[in-house]
Amino acid sequence: MAAALTTGLEHVLPLGSRLNARGALEVGGCDVTELARELGTPAYVYSEDDIRARARAYREAFAARTERFEIVYASKAAPITAVYRLMADEGLSCDVASGGELHLALAGGFSPDRLYLHGNNKTEAELGFAVQRGVGTIVVDSFDEVDRLQRLAPGQRVMLRVTPGIKPETHEKIATGQEDSKFGFGLDDVPRAIEACTDAGLELCGLHAHIGSQIYELSVFERLAEVLWGMGDYPLLNLGGGLGIAYTAEDHPPSVNDYADALLTRVPEGVTVLCEPGRSLVGNAGVTIYTVGTVKRIPGVRTYVAVDGGMSDNLRPMLYAARYEAEIADRFGGGDLCTVAGMHCESGDILIRDTELDDPRPGDVLVVPATGAYGHAMANNYNAIPRPPVILCREGEARVVVRRETYDDLTLRDA
Ligand code: PLP
Repeated sequence: MAAALTTGLEHVLPLGSRLNARGALEVGGCDVTELARELGTPAYVYSEDDIRARARAYREAFAARTERFEIVYASKAAPITAVYRLMADEGLSCDVASGGELHLALAGGFSPDRLYLHGNNKTEAELGFAVQRGVGTIVVDSFDEVDRLQRLAPGQRVMLRVTPGIKPETHEKIATGQEDSKFGFGLDDVPRAIEACTDAGLELCGLHAHIGSQIYELSVFERLAEVLWGMGDYPLLNLGGGLGIAYTAEDHPPSVNDYADALLTRVPEGVTVLCEPGRSLVGNAGVTIYTVGTVKRIPGVRTYVAVDGGMSDNLRPMLYAARYEAEIADRFGGGDLCTVAGMHCESGDILIRDTELDDPRPGDVLVVPATGAYGHAMANNYNAIPRPPVILCREGEARVVVRRETYDDLTLRDA
């Protein structure tokens, strides 16, 4: 018998998550403490149904408002072959930001004509690979790239990345729409860039802008649509991604329906709108499970709960001071104020500065929700720590879709 979650984290955990009769968290019907025992920790655990449901929610929200739209999975959020396969299966298109992501998207079954290649400094090798594999659209980011495409890909279908001069309220490292940005063409340069594309014989089909990530403020998206539409009469406008998600109990982001309203209200009929979400498709679909190794109580100062991962599997707290919640996987709702520390040789390797846990002890499985986006994607081998596996769960079945790295993997590239 499973009980409903009453932790205040229902909107942060994967859809359908629950506490089972033992009080342990189930994701996709799988008890995460059992997964920890069988498959080890740390591990990224996703609910497959959650990913599918969010992909469908996007398509339904747009379909209810327009016939002309395309939902493009921004795959930098979770570049996992099995996740590409789910997104392709759900009828999404896909944004890839490198040759590596392109390789994974193709391995995941995306048809090349559904792919959009991004990047502020695509190499000749990446552009050549994209052309050779028949990538549908290249999103041009600079005048230098126009020259490269003229040589490498005459006639290529392209969109133009515009920096619309809009700065959303978000961390400065994930704001990309302001004039002072390494991405895209500033508004003053757009007419010249359009001319350059035409002169280069490229097929310019529309404009693109992505103003940033983890955004709750919907008015900036309305403004974005207005600015892009004001730049010319194009059949396609890609308004990027960026919808924020809930990382903590207090976070209440706008719904996908409200986001779709904001993107679509200012766009005239007949224009196809592309929306490019990453985080909001996969962020809440995944949790990371860790094992508590040491508990260091410094009376009157702090209690450090150290886990077997950290900045190698979740860089976001260190990059953006991103906040997360944690729970002991089979004792939700504790009241001891703790700091969750990683195992790396950096004092800054702190996953969560303050969170309440129930009497944490060595051997406990600790769960950190909302790590589905930019967790695995930014994982690294600092301290030569092997990267965690990715596990997809559905109806009680767990599938390892990316295996855990081994020590032998660490020497595999030695020349
Ligand atoms: N599109 C582009 C060009 C991006 O750079 C990003 C993220 O950096 C996204 C879409 C996805 O943003 P998010 O994950 O916030 O939806």
